[in-house]
Amino acid sequence: MYPSRFRYEAPRSLGEAIRWLQEGAGEAKVLAGGQSLVPLMKLRFASPELLVDINNIGGLDYHRQDADGTLRVGALCRHADLERSALLPGKQPTMAAAAPLIADPIVRNRGTLVGSLCHADPQGDWASVMVALGGSVVAQGPTGRRTIAVADFVTGPFENVLAPDEIAIEAVVPPHRGTPAGGYLKLERRVGDFATVGVAVAVETSGGIVTRAGIALTGVGGFTIACTEAAEVLTGQALTPQAIEQAAGLAAAAARPRTDHRGSAEYKRHMVRTFVVRILDRTGPAAGEQAVGALPGPGPAAERAA
Ligand SMILES: Cc1cc2nc3c(=O)[nH]c(=O)nc-3n(C[C@H](O)[C@H](O)[C@H](O)COP(=O)(O)OP(=O)(O)OC[C@H]3O[C@@H](n4cnc5c(N)ncnc54)[C@H](O)[C@@H]3O)c2cc1C
Repeated sequence: MYPSRFRYEAPRSLGEAIRWLQEGAGEAKVLAGGQSLVPLMKLRFASPELLVDINNIGGLDYHRQDADGTLRVGALCRHADLERSALLPGKQPTMAAAAPLIADPIVRNRGTLVGSLCHADPQGDWASVMVALGGSVVAQGPTGRRTIAVADFVTGPFENVLAPDEIAIEAVVPPHRGTPAGGYLKLERRVGDFATVGVAVAVETSGGIVTRAGIALTGVGGFTIACTEAAEVLTGQALTPQAIEQAAGLAAAAARPRTDHRGSAEYKRHMVRTFVVRILDRTGPAAGEQAVGALPGPGPAAERAA
């Protein structure tokens, strides 16, 4: 099917893009990688009157780390940039593990992490990763910039808090308070598919004690699930087998899977538990403070689990 008629603008600055969005008065959409929006338009599930293509705006294709350790991912940084990143494996093992698991190489060459957050698909992998890392989105509109935690950014399936004239300009991950470790595991029917179950785990340790933990789930509910209780159990103690088992049980309990053609709810819950244990086992006392080096992406935690 062909999309409905639409106007197309390709501004060269953020200011100009925001003016076009204002002119669109709620009927305009930002086009980033187009890997979710274009299929929706072709199916006529989305029929924007105006497309504001941000690909000609310079300086948005970065991912970099500030001096204080804050990681910034610009709105035009592609999944493939993160997959090939020299920065992520040592500094952000959860992101390094997830990047090669997003879709297929063609989609990864165009699609963006920020676009994935904006699209707010409950099966989007980056949202869980960013929730586990305590990340946020920086939005720019006519009156300036604001920062929104990813956990508050998504309001429902395919809905976010952006005003119609705001653009998400970057995603931000706060600096570590300890040695980072973690991973992302994804169960999919075939390579390149959306997650049947996805689990993001990000921990920081200092002297063998977990100083911060985040666990979030993809595809096992109508939204990205933050496993707050599971993360709290891990914090302030060593990653013992008992602590890992307890956290895995709480994460499985937080999942809201439905039985469908991909598997029963019970099976998906079991996979959540299994993935949490698998990621944390590789991070635990045996791995100790070596965990970062032990989990380079695409390393063991980046395995597809189909
Ligand atoms: C075959 C296929 C398989 C896929 N498999 C997976 C998968 O396994 N895992 C996964 O996570 N994703 C998957 N995707 C989706 C893919 O990751 C998309 O790249 C991503 O969801 C959207 O990013 P984009 O840059 O392409 O955004 P676009 O398609 O350009 O935009 C998506 C939505 O976000 C809005 N938007 C985008 N950027 C901004 C911005 N900067 N500011 C404000 N609004 C913005 C757009 O207006 C639109 O509503 C798949 C897609 C395809 C086609």
